[in-house]
Amino acid sequence: MALLEISGLTARHGLLEAVRGVSFSLEKGKTLALVGANGAGKTTLLRTLAGAHRAAAGRIEFAGADVTNLPSHKRAAAGIALVPEGRRLFARMTVEENLLLARAAGRPGRWTLEAVFEAFPNLLERRRSRAGSLSGGEQQATAIGRALMTNPDLLLLDEISLGLSPLVVDRVYRQLNALMSSGATIILVEQDLKRALGVADSVICMLEGRIILDGRAGDFTREQVTDAYFGLG
Ligand code: ATP
Repeated sequence: MALLEISGLTARHGLLEAVRGVSFSLEKGKTLALVGANGAGKTTLLRTLAGAHRAAAGRIEFAGADVTNLPSHKRAAAGIALVPEGRRLFARMTVEENLLLARAAGRPGRWTLEAVFEAFPNLLERRRSRAGSLSGGEQQATAIGRALMTNPDLLLLDEISLGLSPLVVDRVYRQLNALMSSGATIILVEQDLKRALGVADSVICMLEGRIILDGRAGDFTREQVTDAYFGLG
């Protein structure tokens, strides 16, 4: 049975339909890469899944329950966590405080403060530093750690590579790979197609709010996805 089942999902910004009748499903333990040009609707789709944006139409079924109209805090409690674009940490609070706040929003499970510091050892020595004083890579690790602290069944990652050096991106992805091997279910928005196709089980390419390409990551070449990206497919 699919962990996530979306049908006919539509989301708007005013009159603009940023997500237009999107349907797909995702099985437990799989990673889905969501790609597409700027403005394709990827962020709006992730935010709608997390309950940070209202669905105008359609249905989101998660672990067998209809969560379409649940507010975001109830979706976190149901097991959906979003790592938003731009990280959105509480800059004046410490790393540890940012992580502990998330714990209250989620459920108990294997992701404790200690487990996050074990997965992201560079955060351990920064635990009492203000989040705003961290490097980009440390902030991203904190943002991912914060999502993990809710012990999610589904992790939504929005452009986690943005603004990081290639070396740091490699490090973040090494940690993500470990998460994937441990059976996490992930939807990943990633601009770097090579990286996205390299880690994901399946890929969805969006264009102007619609799914234009959908399938197993191994079934597509980078060129095919790039063509879809620009509407040439
Ligand atoms: P990016 O890679 O730039 O984040 P994206 O694929 O995530 O792009 P969205 O950010 O979801 O795309 O944007 C989809 C459409 O909705 C775009 O046309 C965008 O201009 C519009 N949009 C996004 N956020 C808002 C907003 N807060 N108010 C009005 N329009 C918005």
